[in-house]
Amino acid sequence: MTQYDVAVIGSGPGGYVAAIRCAQLGMKTAIIEKYNTLGGTCLNVGCIPSKALLDSSEHFHNAYKTFAEHGIEINAPKVNLGQMIARKQKVVSQTCDGIQFLMNKNKIDVLQGMGSFVDANTLKVVGEKDEHTITAKHTIVATGSKPTELPFAKFDKERIISSTEALELKEIPKHLIIIGGGVIGLELGSVYARLGAQVSVVEFMDRIIPTMDGTMSKELTKSLKKLGVKFFMSHKVSDVTRKGEAVTVTATDKKGKEVQFEGDYCLVAVGRKAYTAGLNAEAAGLKLDDRGRIDVNEKLQTNVANIYAIGDVVKGAMLAHKASEEGTLVAEVIAGQKPHINYNLIPGVVYTWPEVAAVGKTEEQLKEAGVAYKTGAFPIKALGRARASMDIEGTVKILADASTDEILGMHMIAPRAADLIAEAVVAMEYRASAEDIARMSHAHPTYAEAIKEAALDATDKRSLHV
Ligand code: FAD
Ligand code: NAD
Repeated sequence: MTQYDVAVIGSGPGGYVAAIRCAQLGMKTAIIEKYNTLGGTCLNVGCIPSKALLDSSEHFHNAYKTFAEHGIEINAPKVNLGQMIARKQKVVSQTCDGIQFLMNKNKIDVLQGMGSFVDANTLKVVGEKDEHTITAKHTIVATGSKPTELPFAKFDKERIISSTEALELKEIPKHLIIIGGGVIGLELGSVYARLGAQVSVVEFMDRIIPTMDGTMSKELTKSLKKLGVKFFMSHKVSDVTRKGEAVTVTATDKKGKEVQFEGDYCLVAVGRKAYTAGLNAEAAGLKLDDRGRIDVNEKLQTNVANIYAIGDVVKGAMLAHKASEEGTLVAEVIAGQKPHINYNLIPGVVYTWPEVAAVGKTEEQLKEAGVAYKTGAFPIKALGRARASMDIEGTVKILADASTDEILGMHMIAPRAADLIAEAVVAMEYRASAEDIARMSHAHPTYAEAIKEAALDATDKRSLHV
């Protein structure tokens, strides 16, 4: 029986990063993955494939909508969905192979198979080809999450689908009905709306991306409506029925009136839930919380001292970079170090176009906490860079402490906001004031100038270009 210092269960961005950091710190490490490819949800059916399709569909949309204005004349572009999906799959394969390379480079043993606890120090791995039993001084559970299923809309994986199937469709839907106006609904809704599908988003709350700053919801709704997406907010879905190729979604609007949507595909994107099936957590004595997540303390240690859990399977934002930070933290805790994660500074991004990105507190959170704050904003359309590229939608919003000027939150809907948000993270990590950013030089012409201008606005309403 092979003995390890650390066994990691799950090879997503939480697990594989944890394994690499453990190996870097000199620990004999194994990673256990039930699928044949490494990388977890993020690389196989999440972040990477969705971004590949978002990019492809954005190219098509631009070719169709903006090339003529740019002075580029082409015959009407056509979508080859098979090729688009095949390119996405190639990107996925290359990225997953990259993780295998990193495992080899760091001398991490990869054990293919379903990992389960025999006891707190022993794990069984049942693979397609063989079975192993190993012991580990420490185990890191990084088993991730799965799409939440609605009781009245069981996934048939053909017409009533989750994000996984939506990344693999064989045809462009005529009418894609999406339940849930969160990140997945809006990203994958954008893909198919750009490719020509009619897209209807049915959302339970009164706004899309309801956990983000309200200004972002409003601006993103406007942008996506221009793309043709239809929104039905404050709608409670009660039934989804499939008949052949047709899907009917029944909901009740806020006045209590029953509404029906007829489409050919229904994407259910109402969140994800922690995945612990098959782990035999009871054998190790692991405690789960009321939402089925593994209960952990601030060091991500479970109620069993030598077992840690990270990523989507524990509380907090279900984000790849959050999982990775936690992987690093746990490896360093096991090595006796004293690492720290500032959860307030984990950025969130929605990869629509324009992109939405945010870090820190929303205006709603500051109001609720009774914090005195001031705001600064700047519209993207006032940037020379934006006009040059015909990407003029969006705004940058900064929230700063009313008395100290410290930046408390930054929210942006802008071209390349996913990359721009890094400036906000750095600034807030060093507890910058809005004036600090306002006084820094930002290259011209760039989208980042909107951050400086919003900071000037927050400092004392002295934006230069509006
Ligand atoms: P996972 O990536 O889910 O990995 C868990 C792994 O554990 C899986 O490979 C699973 O097979 C394996 N496993 C589970 N149980 C066992 C077992 N008992 N034995 C062996 N193996 C097991 N996040 C972002 O930050 N940015 C994005 O752009 C983004 N886009 C997304 C798009 C989509 C469509 C989806 C669905 C998610 C997206 N996410 C994104 C979320 C992101 O994918 C997750 O937050 C992230 O993958 C969580 O990482 P993890 O390591 O905790 O778990
Ligand atoms: P989500 O939590 O982002 O959004 C779910 C939405 O569905 C919410 O707006 C919610 O109000 C709505 N909803 C819930 N129940 C409903 C119902 N019965 N009827 C109608 N609407 C309902 O969840 P998601 O979009 O499924 O994404 C899951 C997770 O994956 C998220 O936590 C997200 O962080 C992660 N993810 C991240 C990215 C990214 O970082 N770009 C991309 C995709 C997914």
